[in-house]
Amino acid sequence: MRVIRVRARNPFGRTKISGIDFVVNQYIGCIHGCKYCYAKFMCRWYGEWGKWVIVRENLPELIRDRFVSGSVLMSSISDPYQPIEGKLELTRKVLKAMNQKIRLKILTKSDLILRDVDLLEEFRRLEVGLTVNSFDEELRKIIEPKAPSMERRFKALERLHDHGIKTYSFIAPVIPKITDLNYVIERTKDHVEYYIVELLNLKTSGNFRSWLKKNYPSSYYGLKMDVGGYAKKIQKILAEHSVLGRVIVHPQ
Ligand code: SF4
Repeated sequence: MRVIRVRARNPFGRTKISGIDFVVNQYIGCIHGCKYCYAKFMCRWYGEWGKWVIVRENLPELIRDRFVSGSVLMSSISDPYQPIEGKLELTRKVLKAMNQKIRLKILTKSDLILRDVDLLEEFRRLEVGLTVNSFDEELRKIIEPKAPSMERRFKALERLHDHGIKTYSFIAPVIPKITDLNYVIERTKDHVEYYIVELLNLKTSGNFRSWLKKNYPSSYYGLKMDVGGYAKKIQKILAEHSVLGRVIVHPQ
């Protein structure tokens, strides 16, 4: 793994992500190495996705005493709790320094977030999301090679909820005939306030698109030909479970 240490100039970046005003990325790049990750476009500068990470080591000092009104997402082009965080504790330092009145959303695939429950409990307007789907371990090791198992993510949601932290499930990527939405909702609905459900974006998934086409042709063509139909099915499933949710659909 290549670790590139840099000094950042601004802790908050403006974003066009729907419902979010700012992003905080103390890391850029992600060792979880998900095959479908939309941030893979950065490979053109730094090499194979999942093999490098940029550490913005001065983020804690930069963010201290800074306040932004509007919602802040941690993170958008990395996972704040990817494996290197266990050693560096950079996310923990950022949280320690951050203004606790900020409207913060944390999104991760890792139960390492449980280490920081003591800090999370201090934030007044915090929501924590775990990305979950229904990949079995065999598939997860191919598609999300260095991310924790689904079981660990489900348990993390449960533990966060038990601590009184507002949680949501980010069900992504939804891939027709692979992602079992009913299963994920059943596993999480007692521990989350709401769902964000995102269909796989073929356009930004790079060579994952050809992998899917080769290995799961009906999923690939199903998504390509009828993305609107799948979005309606998802809405119906959310309604059948009586849970709150928002569906993100991309033109394919
Ligand atoms: S965890 Fe998120 S940021 Fe990291 S590789 Fe996977 S999709 Fe990309």
